[in-house]
Amino acid sequence: MNTTFKLEHIHCDLCGNDKYVERYRKPDNWLFLNQFQYPVVECTACGLVYVNPRPAAEEMGRYYPSGYHDGRNDEKHLERYAVQYLYIKPYQFNSVLDVGCARGDWLAYINRISPGLELHGVDAFSNLVNHDFVTFQKALLCEANLKNNFFDLVTAWAVLEHVHSPSAYFEAVSRHLKDGGKFIFLVTNSESLYGKRAYCEDIPRHLYHFSEKTIEQYAKKFSMKIIAKNYDTHFWDARGIGTFYYLLGNILGVNWNLISLNRVNIIQKLAMRIGSFIDSLVFYFQWEARLKKSGIIVFVLEKAE
Ligand SMILES: [Zn+2]
Repeated sequence: MNTTFKLEHIHCDLCGNDKYVERYRKPDNWLFLNQFQYPVVECTACGLVYVNPRPAAEEMGRYYPSGYHDGRNDEKHLERYAVQYLYIKPYQFNSVLDVGCARGDWLAYINRISPGLELHGVDAFSNLVNHDFVTFQKALLCEANLKNNFFDLVTAWAVLEHVHSPSAYFEAVSRHLKDGGKFIFLVTNSESLYGKRAYCEDIPRHLYHFSEKTIEQYAKKFSMKIIAKNYDTHFWDARGIGTFYYLLGNILGVNWNLISLNRVNIIQKLAMRIGSFIDSLVFYFQWEARLKKSGIIVFVLEKAE
């Protein structure tokens, strides 16, 4: 097995600035392929939050174990599709593109409600779609062969965190959308306790963390504007659970090294357990969404007429 890990240093994807402040460091605490603690940094010019240095694009495959992209189409997703549909329902659309479409079941859900639409999907990790009415390309969006000024609607559910260049995606989406077309997508919130204090961002698979402020700048840069946004609580639990768990641990000197080596002592473990209990009280209700501090945001962008 190749045990060398190639990292790359990057400039800000949004504004090109190379200055940043470090927010925190976090290892890949899911796979622990190595002990490296990835710096999560914030651009001093535009506020974009990203992993830097990060695994090079050609290395990303090893951070996604086989099966990672499966299971996106089972029954439990129908509930999610119902919520997603509420976001697209207010708009007129005949042509839809789904970025990261997996087996195309979200597009099939749309088709069941509104048959006869022009439905396209792209996904670099899926070999085929389950539905013959979906025009599918196995490709990254930026490399896909799609018509410009063609789509009324583009969707991307939890995709932009994973890509190496969000700018390239915003550029491509804007190009493929008709004037007045909508881009509806879900991202994690860089200003949430979920991301900042509870360390829930899936590093290094989540390479970018967004906010209203940074999405507004992306939209403007690629001739779009935000027309709606929602701190949604339906997709997965993006409360700040873990905030007090880690806070009390940190106070007693717990760090990622101790966690990864399983050397957290009994006093530290007790403190963290108390932290967990405080988490369960503080985050019992979904109060963060009302304060725009929850971990997920769904945006609706419109391409300028
Ligand atoms: Zn920047």
